[in-house]
Amino acid sequence: MSFLCVDRIPGLLDLDRAVGLEAAGDPRYFWPTGSALRVRFLDGPPGLRARVMAAASAWTDHANLTFTVVGAEPADIRVTFRGAGNWSAVGMMSRNRRMFPPGAPTMSLAEAPAAGPARLARLARHEFGHAIGLVHEHSSPDAGIAWNRPVVLAALAGPPNHWSTADVAVNVFDRYRDTRTQFTAFDPESVMLYAFPPEWTLDGRTFPENTELSAADRAFAAHIYPPRGASR
Ligand SMILES: [Zn+2]
Repeated sequence: MSFLCVDRIPGLLDLDRAVGLEAAGDPRYFWPTGSALRVRFLDGPPGLRARVMAAASAWTDHANLTFTVVGAEPADIRVTFRGAGNWSAVGMMSRNRRMFPPGAPTMSLAEAPAAGPARLARLARHEFGHAIGLVHEHSSPDAGIAWNRPVVLAALAGPPNHWSTADVAVNVFDRYRDTRTQFTAFDPESVMLYAFPPEWTLDGRTFPENTELSAADRAFAAHIYPPRGASR
């Protein structure tokens, strides 16, 4: 298994100073419940697009959202397979025209064209999790991962990531403070957790590349996007 397939949230979420965060999602960027999100593919063959959407629909099986593939603007989520690495805007952050100019991608699935079925499902579900407002499970206040920081920094500074120290901080090391929901218990089965090798932790702790939504992922999606008539 390659462990280089970590991804990145564009920009800095400013975790330390953020207020009112839930552990696995950022409410500032949640879409209105019931939204029909328009997904536009900027490139890639039809079969690949269909496999991505089939995997991503695991979220809309539980969240009160729909994904509709469109062929032109306006689009809420713009997907490229030709970006640098795998990444996605978090929820409504994709509306930020300074970060994501009109017509530019809001999500990159660079590894998807060469990925097998399980890897593709993992990539699509993880990045579409970001696109509906979820953040990294290892950013949970409850994660308690003892990172071997020099090893992680060195690994991610090199190819294919070329991350700055700030990129590593916000995507790997930083944790949310707020523990106000039942969903803050660290979930090692979350599709929003990185897979990483034992060398990255001081105690040799490691996690596999989860491909399915965990029970807590499904419950959280339904919690932040509840069915009509229920409240968040
Ligand atoms: Zn991610």
